[in-house]
Amino acid sequence: METTPLITVEDLRVHFPIYSKGLFRKVAGHVKAVDGVSFSLGRGETLGLVGESGSGKTTIGRAILRALDVTAGSITFQANGDPVDLLALHGSNLKHFRRNMQLIFQDPYASLNPRMTVRDIIAEPLECLNAGSRQEIDEQIRAVAATCKLNVEHLRRFPHAFSGGQRQRICIARALSTHPKFLVCDESVSALDVSIQAEVINLLMDLQQELGLTYLFIAHDLSVVAHISTQVAVLYVGRFTELAPTKELFFKPLHPYTKALMSAVPTIDLDREFNPLKLAGEIPNPAAPPPGCRFHTRCPYAKQICIDEEPEWKQWRPHHYAACHRVAEIN
Ligand code: SF4
Repeated sequence: METTPLITVEDLRVHFPIYSKGLFRKVAGHVKAVDGVSFSLGRGETLGLVGESGSGKTTIGRAILRALDVTAGSITFQANGDPVDLLALHGSNLKHFRRNMQLIFQDPYASLNPRMTVRDIIAEPLECLNAGSRQEIDEQIRAVAATCKLNVEHLRRFPHAFSGGQRQRICIARALSTHPKFLVCDESVSALDVSIQAEVINLLMDLQQELGLTYLFIAHDLSVVAHISTQVAVLYVGRFTELAPTKELFFKPLHPYTKALMSAVPTIDLDREFNPLKLAGEIPNPAAPPPGCRFHTRCPYAKQICIDEEPEWKQWRPHHYAACHRVAEIN
């Protein structure tokens, strides 16, 4: 039986205006950072978002958290059984709803205030939400610190006393202090050493099992995404090119862009030839995306139809979607 998704995003668009120079500045165009993205995410699931820098991954995460103004589309969040239209929330309603959704930043060195103790860092979201007396907040902090494998004596120290992995655990504890249901992990392990990455990923997976958390996991390291995600979406110039369950996407990619990304994943299998597909050129400017298929300027399979017509977003296998005119021929 299919359960209701925790988050449903439909036709999400985030366009940033470009202003002309001069005294009377006018809107001269738009950077279409996200341009028609739809997906749903069930409780306890992880959607991995991959794509090159500038493809719109972070913008999607921040738009869902309402940290950015959304141009069009809808975001529905199932809170305690009732669907909530996130874009209709404003002011104090939005502030209080934010306890359900939190963000874990990329850089655990820059995202912790060096002048605050760990106790005060974890307490900050609770104090913003007036979540109880100092004693009640301290009890909640001790509980969340233990969940994130931090000791009570750590709470009195400052961030500089910790390693990168410990700092990221403090960031996770801060995010979990409000008991969120949904976390955006924006390149949350990219700044860490490989062994520490594994430690933090395992902690995130344990917390997901224990607390039933749902993650939007943004990363450029495909092996990390494969490890933690239940489904993966590939983003190119603000649009999804492919979306599928993780195994399906990694072993049976349909879209030429996904195939190129997969071919670039290094392997330790010495018998397998490492022969990454080289894409010509750069990712197009999202202020002036190419007509038709946005990937046609770099795609080795491009034909005239790819320039003339935008490919349809279509389900090719169960739960496996891709937007490409030539899926049947290529595969
Ligand atoms: Fe390549 Fe054409 Fe498919 Fe776009 S639609 S990915 S250009 S084959």
